[in-house]
Amino acid sequence: MNIETQSCVITGKQQVSVTQQQVEWDGKGTLVRITRGGICGSDLHYYQEGKVGNFAVKMPMILGHEVIGYVAESDHPDLKPGQKVAVNPSKPCGSCKYCQRNQQNQCTSMRFFGSAMYLPHVDGGFTQYKVVDSAQCVPFPQEADEKVMVFAEPLAVCIHATHQAGDLHGKHVFISGVGPIGCLIAAAAKARGAASVVCSDISERSLRMAQQMGATATLHAADGDFAPYLADKGYFDVAFEAAGHPASLQRCLDVVCARGTLVQVGMGGAIPDFPIMALIAKEINLVGSFRFTHEFNTAVEWLAGGVVNPLPLFSGEYDLREIDAALQFASDKTRAAKVQLTF
Ligand SMILES: [Zn+2]
Ligand SMILES: [Zn+2]
Repeated sequence: MNIETQSCVITGKQQVSVTQQQVEWDGKGTLVRITRGGICGSDLHYYQEGKVGNFAVKMPMILGHEVIGYVAESDHPDLKPGQKVAVNPSKPCGSCKYCQRNQQNQCTSMRFFGSAMYLPHVDGGFTQYKVVDSAQCVPFPQEADEKVMVFAEPLAVCIHATHQAGDLHGKHVFISGVGPIGCLIAAAAKARGAASVVCSDISERSLRMAQQMGATATLHAADGDFAPYLADKGYFDVAFEAAGHPASLQRCLDVVCARGTLVQVGMGGAIPDFPIMALIAKEINLVGSFRFTHEFNTAVEWLAGGVVNPLPLFSGEYDLREIDAALQFASDKTRAAKVQLTF
């Protein structure tokens, strides 16, 4: 069976078009009718620069990895036509050493939606119909708000980041950089029992967003009074760096307490003068955080159950035929946080 589908395809820097394509359904896996998707920073990097880090767009690729929809056809008995699903964009190989250790986000042959890491590139989810592994479909209740459920993927990233810090119960948490990811980390940290969540950013607008997402206090990164958090080698048990900026990392190293944990989430370039002495002398546990594993299911549960309300981050929606306008708007960080597409 062949199905016509409209897809948002990128061919290079600032070259994106809506293309009519064919999807082949051969009775295996699940054919999903995608209804809604969220635009992520990586989609914006592909659009604005034609690449994410070292991975350049070398051939036409469907954008997008934050999508939901409903089952059109499936080989899985639990996925009846019409069942609403959040689509997990990760497809690990299942057999490499990391998959065997249950560390699927480290899979050496990961196929992740909308990624130019490999050739041929892996197509993303900004399309009307897509065939996926049935295991990638996480059902959610019919009555759940679709605008909310689209946050499953970024929330999964953030729940994973909090897991990288261990138990957060009763802990004092600092987040540097509160774009959508920093804000969702704030919400996830609260949900996991943090006693306080203090957020810092250079944008007043982002700080207001963080407050709506559960921050217990906010500080302007440039002129906030950090003195109380510097005493006794630092106040916070855990710091999350979510801006991807050297000054932000330095701030985290300053305010995290000795033997505290610093989780690096923000993607930045190389840091020429990494403050190694602070890391050594304060015995800071520095840990990276990349994508997610089982946290995708937790995110779907939390969103459907109202544990986290991501709607303060929602900035508007566009029809897929307005992909250009949507990407332009989403790129304007003074106006937009999370922009969604409808299919
Ligand atoms: Zn994303
Ligand atoms: Zn693997």
